[in-house]
Amino acid sequence: MKYVSTRGEAAGRGFAGILLEGLAPDGGLYVPERYPRVDAAMLAAWRRLSYPDLAFAVMSLFIDDIPAADLRALVEKSYRAEVFGGDARIAPLRALEPGVFVLGLSNGPTLAFKDVAMQFLGHAFEYELGRRGGTLDVLGATSGDTGSAAEHALKGKRGIEVFMLSPLGRMSPFQQAQMFSLQDANIHNIAIEGVFDDCQDLVKAVSADLEFKRAHSIGTVNSINWARLLAQVVYYFAGWFQATRSDDELVDFAVPTGNFGNICAGHVARSMGLPIRRLLLATNENDVLDEFFRSGVYRVRSAAETHETSSPSMDISKASNFERFVFDALGRNAARTRALFAEVEARRVFAFDAGERARIGAFGFVSGRSTAADRLATIADVHRRFGEIIDPHTADALKVARDHAEPATPVIVLETALAAKFNDTIRAAIGSDAPRPARLAGLEALPRRFTTMPADVVRLKAFIAENDRR
Ligand SMILES: *Cc1c(COP(=O)(O)O)cnc(C)c1O
Repeated sequence: MKYVSTRGEAAGRGFAGILLEGLAPDGGLYVPERYPRVDAAMLAAWRRLSYPDLAFAVMSLFIDDIPAADLRALVEKSYRAEVFGGDARIAPLRALEPGVFVLGLSNGPTLAFKDVAMQFLGHAFEYELGRRGGTLDVLGATSGDTGSAAEHALKGKRGIEVFMLSPLGRMSPFQQAQMFSLQDANIHNIAIEGVFDDCQDLVKAVSADLEFKRAHSIGTVNSINWARLLAQVVYYFAGWFQATRSDDELVDFAVPTGNFGNICAGHVARSMGLPIRRLLLATNENDVLDEFFRSGVYRVRSAAETHETSSPSMDISKASNFERFVFDALGRNAARTRALFAEVEARRVFAFDAGERARIGAFGFVSGRSTAADRLATIADVHRRFGEIIDPHTADALKVARDHAEPATPVIVLETALAAKFNDTIRAAIGSDAPRPARLAGLEALPRRFTTMPADVVRLKAFIAENDRR
């Protein structure tokens, strides 16, 4: 399988070739040159597979430059029961109410779905660097879930140093503890005296210094990485197998959405022929994508227009993976994709024309929006009726799933975090604490290892140079 850029460059490179890269050189995102198709016979054969075997089956359709035995070893290391809360299903499905299932994606080390992809990415990076004899300094900015999932996946990996910037004092106590308690020598937590945007600007400033970037092999693990997306495709299959009995049953998926990574994986699974009827896209008050799917207008927000909400991992001003869907919706017209995103650069907005809007319907997307009040009401309702506590992001998806429910088609709600991560909101909703997995008891009391720094790119570069152990 070869990969191409959404802006037209025929990269002609395979999966391992683009694994360690972010954007394509022309500024686009990498996508496979076509989506491999699955048929009923393949689905029937895959139904009985374990999670790692299913991951191997799905991923090997997209990867032909890693030997099969090596890829199998990578997925087996990534998807072990011990890493995912002791459950060998990795992504266990449970019934919530008639017609609604919840797919548990948050049993990994940091209790959020990002672990599912990041665990694979960590092993794949280490493997590929070992094969090339290279090293990598991963530089990132986080406001919470991404950074901790990346650190827990990359800690102790050979050839990799992690420099993770976070806004000092602005993450939840739980998120801070998850990151700062790591004692591994290759993990460098840098608490920046500023806000998340300052952290992102510092990452951009370092990456813009091409000489420094090359000297330190600076790379990222952000959500546009194709390998992360591919790892997420697998659990759409796993969820569908657990919710169905025959190989042509249709289901809907409801997905709490920020950067369009998770739901883009659903779009890929559907494009491969997995029987998904609709993809129910849920946003919070930051409704860039809900607006697009209702109007055909994509309007990115300024920092001032971006709301701080109680589902903070969806507080985005623009959706960094969205270009992949736009490319497909435009019939893979790279020139038009390039023109539309140039408009976004220049004027923060583009609009599909009438013909383009008419094509969107074929992709199965239905969108909705959920607010702070909806989250509290949904969490309280689920607690009262079922004795379960769901996290605020999952609540956004459940709200939208209920709004669009149709009796004939079951819907699978993706559970993207455990409630324990967002305990303040849980207390506000139900007046008591969210349960926490026993393995994380006492997390906040562990010793912490981090560096505090002003938002100063010279200081940051000096720190990276000092701590680059090569
Ligand atoms: C990252 C995240 C999301 C949003 O996922 P995208 O892939 O950015 O759409 C939703 N919920 C939680 C808990 C997250 O950490």
